[in-house]
Amino acid sequence: MPGELSCGDVAGDLLSDYHDGALPTEKKDAVEEHIQICRPCMNAVRGYCAAARLAKAAMWTEPPDHSEKSLIEYLRRHGAI
Ligand SMILES: [Zn+2]
Repeated sequence: MPGELSCGDVAGDLLSDYHDGALPTEKKDAVEEHIQICRPCMNAVRGYCAAARLAKAAMWTEPPDHSEKSLIEYLRRHGAI
């Protein structure tokens, strides 16, 4: 089904790009459509955004880099999530 995403897509590969605003409009719309009808994915997106905000608010002694994957790993290492 073109345009429709699975939960795996939304909570997986697309999540960081969606948060970064890096998705093409078509994909972004598909994600937004999905999270409106899918609570687990909505929670995943919200949780992701909250973690990203937390990281930005935190003092970074040595930021690994600006990629979201490293950010998540950083937070896990420091027990923040
Ligand atoms: Zn879903």
